[in-house]
Amino acid sequence: MLEKSYDAVVIGCGAAGMAAALAVHEGGRSVAIVEREDFPGGILMQCIHNGFGIHEFGADLTGPEFAERLLSKLLEAGIDIYPDTSVMDISGGKDARVVTACGAAHGVIRLACRAVVLAMGCRERNRGNVAIAGSRPAGVFTAGLAQRLMNLDGWLPGRRVVVIGSGDIGLIMARRLTLVGAKVLAVVEIMPYPSGLARNISQCLNDFSIPLHLSHIVSRIIGPERVEGVMVTPLVDGVPDYARSFHLSCDTVLLSVGLIPENELSRKAGIPLNDDTGGPRVDADLMSGVPGIFACGNVLHVHDLVDFVVDEGRRCGRAAVRYLAGESVRQFRIAAGASLRHIIPNYYAPDRENIIFMRPMIVKNDAVLSLKIDGTEFKRKKLLHIQPSEMIRLVLKPAEFPALEDGRENVLEAALE
Ligand SMILES: Cc1cc2nc3c(=O)[nH]c(=O)nc-3n(C[C@H](O)[C@H](O)[C@H](O)COP(=O)(O)OP(=O)(O)OC[C@H]3O[C@@H](n4cnc5c(N)ncnc54)[C@H](O)[C@@H]3O)c2cc1C
Repeated sequence: MLEKSYDAVVIGCGAAGMAAALAVHEGGRSVAIVEREDFPGGILMQCIHNGFGIHEFGADLTGPEFAERLLSKLLEAGIDIYPDTSVMDISGGKDARVVTACGAAHGVIRLACRAVVLAMGCRERNRGNVAIAGSRPAGVFTAGLAQRLMNLDGWLPGRRVVVIGSGDIGLIMARRLTLVGAKVLAVVEIMPYPSGLARNISQCLNDFSIPLHLSHIVSRIIGPERVEGVMVTPLVDGVPDYARSFHLSCDTVLLSVGLIPENELSRKAGIPLNDDTGGPRVDADLMSGVPGIFACGNVLHVHDLVDFVVDEGRRCGRAAVRYLAGESVRQFRIAAGASLRHIIPNYYAPDRENIIFMRPMIVKNDAVLSLKIDGTEFKRKKLLHIQPSEMIRLVLKPAEFPALEDGRENVLEAALE
């Protein structure tokens, strides 16, 4: 059995894991990355469309191009990567963790370390998660799986396609399928507004005249063996109006109905999870409730943009370096107030810069974000437009906080008006 020792072990070699490992290395600590696929890069490798890296590199890149820029830095730094190796367990106690993994090259490996960075990304919600009536024919795919089949394996999943859900992956796949000659009949969205980014609605649907049916559901999937069609039903005040259902004849259904952090390992390691995001609860240093185990990227909460994933990975790696040096910072709890579904991280550090992500629950123009500490407002921020599909990203610098007395709760509550 291969046994090695590092200061930190990163699980997952996507954008978050690569950025975190680079930051640990730059902080002068030894680090390794374990990746279950036989290639690095994570989900980026199947995203062959452009639109990546505008913030991070000031360039409009494809997913693999973006990944390559990070990977070349990893290779230059000589960071150990264990590909084709799945982490199965994180054991041990504070400052003496063991990451146990299994892979083709070495069989079972055990990596001893003092800090672990979780960067396992997320998985797609599937048909079972949204409970669609009908038979169970072939031809029903999650959008990301269809993307992988097309872009990595070279298979066309179908020719006449209905997309359920207007999440970004579904929108991008609607365009991709159209470009290769398939007919995308419609995107069907249960909510009265799209759940993907506005730019993707414009560039992936409007530019290709693909209909978007808002406030509609696919009420039945039809087909004994292969999908033959779906029934689409409008919602009136949230209730299906079956009398106005219509039939679309298709051979393929793609589901783009949300992503869930990949949290099995986190759960197994006893890490407290955030009910609203499905990822770990973390403090201002992105450290979970288990000392020395950090989380970043989509395993923490599902991000809109890879640039923010990389930024978070980097901050997470730096925090792991501070942890390894025994540094800590005073911090207090953050709570999500009115019209916010969740807020990440769960703590803030008033003596440092804080980057806080919030998921709004409402669609509104000219909204205001109000920030209070123990009930007293200390900042108001105007937001031109908010919608659930776009995260609010807030940067709070030390100078913006009021004087805080230690010994008080100092709970920061963010709310939308
Ligand atoms: C279809 C799609 C389109 C997108 N389009 C854009 C866009 O246009 N612009 C943009 O900025 N962003 C876009 N994004 C978002 C962005 O690409 C992702 O948010 C980001 O790449 C996620 O990085 P990550 O490292 O958190 O996760 P991932 O890239 O998913 O990496 C996680 C890695 O962990 C590995 N792993 C998981 N479990 C284990 C285990 N037990 N052991 C070992 N390894 C494990 C996985 O194999 C994977 O390689 C898109 C995302 C998707 C899915």
